Amino acid sequence: AEVSDAEVQQQLPSPPPPTLEPQHAAPQPLIPWEMAEASGKNVARIRVIVRKRPINKQEIQHKENDIVTIADDRPGLIIHEPKMKVDLTKYTEKHQLSFDDVLDQGVDNDQDYRSTVQPLVWTIFQQAKATCFAYGQTGSGKTYTMTPLPKRAAEEMLNLLESYPQFSEWGLWLSCFEIYGGKLFDLLNERRKLVAREDGSQNVCIVGLQEYRVTSMDRLTSLIDKANSVRSTGSTGANAGTFHVHALGRECRCSVCSKPGLYSRRFFTVPFNTAANCQAAKAS
Ligand code: ADP
Ligand code: MG
Repeated sequence: AEVSDAEVQQQLPSPPPPTLEPQHAAPQPLIPWEMAEASGKNVARIRVIVRKRPINKQEIQHKENDIVTIADDRPGLIIHEPKMKVDLTKYTEKHQLSFDDVLDQGVDNDQDYRSTVQPLVWTIFQQAKATCFAYGQTGSGKTYTMTPLPKRAAEEMLNLLESYPQFSEWGLWLSCFEIYGGKLFDLLNERRKLVAREDGSQNVCIVGLQEYRVTSMDRLTSLIDKANSVRSTGSTGANAGTFHVHALGRECRCSVCSKPGLYSRRFFTVPFNTAANCQAAKAS
């Protein structure tokens, strides 16, 4: 997860404080990011979080070993790399790696949201930009992890917009596009082909990308469902035994701003992206 704006006044909070419920709050409630600030914990602008997925039936059938364990001194993990000596005896080499956070296989999507995306949502309400993308080999769990996040984040953004009068001029806008075979397609505008251009301030703009104002979860859900139904990339099939190596990815941008036009005006946004390889991550 990356935060990219010089105007961010403070760093991302960690760990996040409990979700604020305005209707039960004290007379002068703290906004979530004020609570985060009050917790006094700063973290880096780029956070790398690893999520371990459980080994699946197929892997068990093939008698594959679970080669990842979460280290006791979190947030780290150990990779047990199978190796062979010159005399053909097998052994494992241990590699201990550290990350900003490591989520074990028991962590559910809701806990995942709270440690990864919720701090970014608070950051964008401080007029910053934030990006969240998943990177990993096919079958490693990117789609499983990323799919619930835009809806969950948008729900929180809508709640914040509704709950605090200082955001009455702001709105939530949604756009979805797909990178397929190195080309961009608008998933909410009949797969119209789009082009990415750089403006004078070196911002990459996706020219013509349609944005939709969202004021309810029903509307958001129907737009995201519509976008999913016109994707050319369904589930990438580690299970089906295929392996896609071309650049592909889907990006769902939820932005909070006073007017649409993400790329021409000041905006606050969380793009959610999954990338099966480096090229897709770079292209997005
Ligand atoms: P990717 O998008 O990286 O190719 P997927 O998200 O499709 O991978 O995950 C591959 C398979 O593993 C799917 O069947 C998915 O349901 C399962 N899976 C992934 N992550 C988890 C998890 N954390 N817990 C349980 N099952 C998972
Ligand atoms: Mg996938």
